[in-house]
Amino acid sequence: MNSKIAYTKPSITELEIRYVTDAVTHGWGEQCYQYIERLEQQFASYIGTKYAVATSSCTGALHMGLAALGIGPGDEVILADTNWIASVAPVVYLGAKPVFVDILPDSWCLDPTAVERAITANTKAIIAVHLYGNLCEMARLQALATKHGLALIEDAAEALGSEYHGQKAGGIADFGVFSFHGTKTMTTGEGGIFITNNATLYEKVLTLSNHGRKRGQTKQFWPDELGYKYKMSNIQAALGCAQLERIDELVSAKRAVFARYREILAQCSELTLNPEPEGTINSAWMPTAVFSKESRITRDQLQLAFSAENIDARVFFWPLSSLAMFKNSTEVGQAKLSYDICQRAINLPSFVGIKDTEINRVCDVIFNLIAENKSDKTDVARGM
Ligand SMILES: *Cc1c(COP(=O)(O)O)cnc(C)c1O
Repeated sequence: MNSKIAYTKPSITELEIRYVTDAVTHGWGEQCYQYIERLEQQFASYIGTKYAVATSSCTGALHMGLAALGIGPGDEVILADTNWIASVAPVVYLGAKPVFVDILPDSWCLDPTAVERAITANTKAIIAVHLYGNLCEMARLQALATKHGLALIEDAAEALGSEYHGQKAGGIADFGVFSFHGTKTMTTGEGGIFITNNATLYEKVLTLSNHGRKRGQTKQFWPDELGYKYKMSNIQAALGCAQLERIDELVSAKRAVFARYREILAQCSELTLNPEPEGTINSAWMPTAVFSKESRITRDQLQLAFSAENIDARVFFWPLSSLAMFKNSTEVGQAKLSYDICQRAINLPSFVGIKDTEINRVCDVIFNLIAENKSDKTDVARGM
C-alpha cells in the first residue's frame, strides 16, 4: 500500500515550539495576556483593520459578532446553502432564521442575485463566506447591504491571505471572523478571531467574550451583562504569534501547491479548479476540482478511487438545507447549484510541505478515472 496522503496538516517549526514553550513556562500571572494581546494587534495589522478579539473558535467569534449586532428571534440572516455548519449554527443559537441561497457556478460562493431575491423586511444581515479561498463578490454584496440597511459579515476562515482588489479578505465588511483550527492555513490547535473597524462592535464583542465584564470595570467578579466564554488561551496565542510571523511563507506555500495542481490538471477539460478573477488573490486554502456533467464523474467514484490509493480527499460541502435540522426551515432543493455541484466535486490534499510526487499521485487518480469513464462510454456506444 502507498503511504497515506493527508488532506491538510499544520506546518510547525522551531519557532512555534519556542513560543509555546515560553508561554507555558512564563506566561502566567502578570504575563498571562501577553501573547493574546500581541496576536490581536499583529493580526489586525496583517488584515488592515483597527481591532481584533482572539477567541476559542471561529464559531464563537461569529456568535458574538451576530449577538453584538443585536440579531435575535424574528430576524433573518442570508448565507449560501453550500457551507460548513459552523457558519450558520450561531444564527440558530441566537434564535434567528437562516435563509439559504444558491451559489455561483465558478466561485461556489453565494450568488448576489439570489441574495437580493431573498431579502425581506425581516432580513438583518448577509454572511459572505469565502469558500475554499475563493472570494465572494463583495462589491455587489456591499451595495445590497447598503441599499437595504443590512449588516455584511465575512466568514473568512477559509480565505486567510486572499485579497479582493487590494483588501485582505475578512477586513472588508462590518466585521470578519477567522478560524485557527488545525486544518486551516494558520493554526492555534483550536481557535479563532473577530476583527472589525467598528469601535462599538469591538467594545461589545470584547465585553461579551469575557462573560459580560466591561473593560475598565474595577468591581471584582462583576459582569455588566450576560456574555459568553469564548476566550483564547495565552498558550494558543503563542502558537498563533509564531504562525502569523510565517503567514506570508504559509500562504505562498499553499499557492504553490495550487499552482502545481493547476499546471498538471490544465490538460483536463473534464474539470475546473478554484478561480482567481482579475484583481484578486486566492490564498488557495483548499484546491477543489469540480467535474463537468459531461464527464459523468461522481463524488462517490472520486471518494472510492482516492481511498483505494490511500489519499485523504474530502467531499464538497453538502447543502445545509439537506441536513436534518434545517429540513423544515427552507424549501429543500431550491439552491440548484448547491445540490448539483457537490455531486461531482472533491477537495484535493494541499498541506504545506506536500511533495511533488504526492501531488502527482493525486493527479494520477484523476487521470485514471477520466480514462476509465471514457472507455466505459465507448463500451456503451459499442453495445458492450
Ligand atoms: C473551519 C470553519 C469554521 C469553523 O471554525 P471553528 O474554529 O472550528 O469554529 C467556520 N467557517 C468556515 C468557513 C470554516 O471553514
